[in-house]
Amino acid sequence: MIPASFEYEAPTTLDEAIRLLQQHGENAKLLAGGHSLIPLMKLRLAQPGVLIDLGRIPGLAYIQERDGSIAIGALSTHFMLETSDLLKRELPLVAEAAAAIGDVQVRNRGTIGGSLVHADPGADLPAVVLALGGTLVLRGPRGERTVSADEFFVGMLTTAVEPDEVLTEIRLPKLAGRAGYAYQKAPNPASGYAMVGIAAAVSLATDGTVQDVRIGITGAGPQPVRARAAEDALRGRQPTPETLAAAAEQAAQAIEEPMEDIHASADYRRALVRVHTRRALERAVQAARG
Ligand SMILES: Cc1cc2nc3c(=O)[nH]c(=O)nc-3n(C[C@H](O)[C@H](O)[C@H](O)COP(=O)(O)OP(=O)(O)OC[C@H]3O[C@@H](n4cnc5c(N)ncnc54)[C@H](O)[C@@H]3O)c2cc1C
Repeated sequence: MIPASFEYEAPTTLDEAIRLLQQHGENAKLLAGGHSLIPLMKLRLAQPGVLIDLGRIPGLAYIQERDGSIAIGALSTHFMLETSDLLKRELPLVAEAAAAIGDVQVRNRGTIGGSLVHADPGADLPAVVLALGGTLVLRGPRGERTVSADEFFVGMLTTAVEPDEVLTEIRLPKLAGRAGYAYQKAPNPASGYAMVGIAAAVSLATDGTVQDVRIGITGAGPQPVRARAAEDALRGRQPTPETLAAAAEQAAQAIEEPMEDIHASADYRRALVRVHTRRALERAVQAARG
């Protein structure tokens, strides 16, 4: 399969990339790892007239600790996340979820920025960014703005990024106190994408009760969501098998219209949410207990 012809631009600064986006408008697409965009172009489901490659712009691939958060450059590959000692130590949820993406070729090329902006319903990292209460930094002709993860994902394959903006950085705060994390994935056996993926972040108070908990769900519906009712049900409670199972049930019921396709019925997807939320919470609590 061969894509329709296109112009190729390789800016070396962010300002130049933004100027090119302004110049070409909706006819242009940014290119990061190309592992979502190029397949779409080959299928002619996307036919941008101009590709603006971010790969020659220095300084967009990094993982740093900053003011109690981890800052990740948008061009950081899944492999960088998976192998980062800083993430494994401070936010192992990110490394665990990145390691569950596709295969080694995909992880070597695909980037966190591309994954979040593409917003595939079966992508793994959106659940993680939601569960960690991340902030996304966007740069465009009007300057820089930040968007919370809760406001970033607005629908299937749709985010708050404007056509003339570049996602430059993802900021992920660490949970206070004794924290534990887990990512549970039911992968599609053919594509590897998540039929359901659950990212759980739990912190425990000194008396062992749940101080804070965040649950991000991907794969179940058209866009990733937080399981807020399940989180509220657990906060301040002892994490027993019963309270964790009850929270998992609430997470399953919170999916208004589970996706239904050749891979899984709506009922099966809801059941996957229930089972994997319980497992993710159990593992996160265990990790928090140390
Ligand atoms: C065989 C295969 C298996 C896969 N399995 C999985 C899986 O199991 N889990 C999973 O989560 N993903 C999976 N993926 C997708 C993979 O993670 C992609 O790499 C990712 O979704 C897109 O990242 P990219 O860097 O390749 O982006 P690209 O394909 O280059 O771009 C994707 C979209 O994002 C836009 N974009 C990219 N970067 C920016 C930016 N910084 N600012 C603004 N817009 C930007 C582009 O314009 C484009 O619209 C798989 C892909 C393949 C080919």
